Amino acid sequence: MNDDAETGPTVVGVELGGTKAIAVLARGDRILDRLRVPTTEPGSTLGALVERVTGWFAADRAPEAIGIGSFGPVGLDPGRDDYGHVTTTPKAGWSDVDVVGPFSGFGVPVAFETDVAAAALAEGRWGASRGCTDHVYITIGTGVGVGIVAGGRPVHGLVHPEAGHLRVRRRGDDTFSGTCPYHGDCIEGLASGPAIAARTGTPAEALAPDHPVWRDVVAELGELVTSLTLTVSPQRIVLGGGVGAGRADLVEGIRDAVARNLAGYVAGLDDDGIASLVRPAALGHDAGPLGTVAVAQSAAHVPSASPGVSVAVTPQPWESRG
Ligand code: ZN
Repeated sequence: MNDDAETGPTVVGVELGGTKAIAVLARGDRILDRLRVPTTEPGSTLGALVERVTGWFAADRAPEAIGIGSFGPVGLDPGRDDYGHVTTTPKAGWSDVDVVGPFSGFGVPVAFETDVAAAALAEGRWGASRGCTDHVYITIGTGVGVGIVAGGRPVHGLVHPEAGHLRVRRRGDDTFSGTCPYHGDCIEGLASGPAIAARTGTPAEALAPDHPVWRDVVAELGELVTSLTLTVSPQRIVLGGGVGAGRADLVEGIRDAVARNLAGYVAGLDDDGIASLVRPAALGHDAGPLGTVAVAQSAAHVPSASPGVSVAVTPQPWESRG
């Protein structure tokens, strides 16, 4: 597919999602082997992934690095005790779980990111955000997650972006109380798959395209995309995830909402500009796993010069903490 496919290092990627977890062995952007398991409780989920990764190392496939992308919130600062952990997640059983530690015994660098930042990196390297230095990936699925890449690096800072929990302006007749256990009607509480199911009593994927709930969801996602446009000033915002995947009408509706919200204020964002800015994901279900491959590659190439990704080289920070 590109030079990386021929010359890239062999690496392991591990994507921990809210409903499924995937481990891949990859060279460049080519996935050589893959394990997919449901995300249940941490012990069995991580255990199954570690077992497969152990098999790849034992089979002398010589992976040079491991990249992990996890649902969050996660600790990304190697100087903190919560580095490599899922922290305050509402997902039962996963609060304060160390997801990097189980992969630290293979003698190669382990790099860690949020799942959405990893997907953003993949879309930037191989997908819809190619050529962009500043871009956003939004996943709309089990939750609403936002990965932001600025100047080529995933934004971390205080923790990492949590724009899926922004509250947005709503249509006047939309009074749904929302499903987020922390905030109720944040955007995740309004537009995620579980939120749509709670609003309608029907799984999102089973709803007709003309169901009235989509009008509200599109308007609310349009608010999120507008806010991200105004705050991040990205060159591209990519829409991925399982809710509405492949629905061109949803992307079009979100673009229309952004155009109405911006009202011509931002230079270059006429209809064509907004069509260029807001794009469907190009990598589909592979955005997540390929994202962890991108994260791993950044560690395999030059561990000391990949400031955009949290990289721990043996000895790992958690080993020295006692
Ligand atoms: Zn929330």
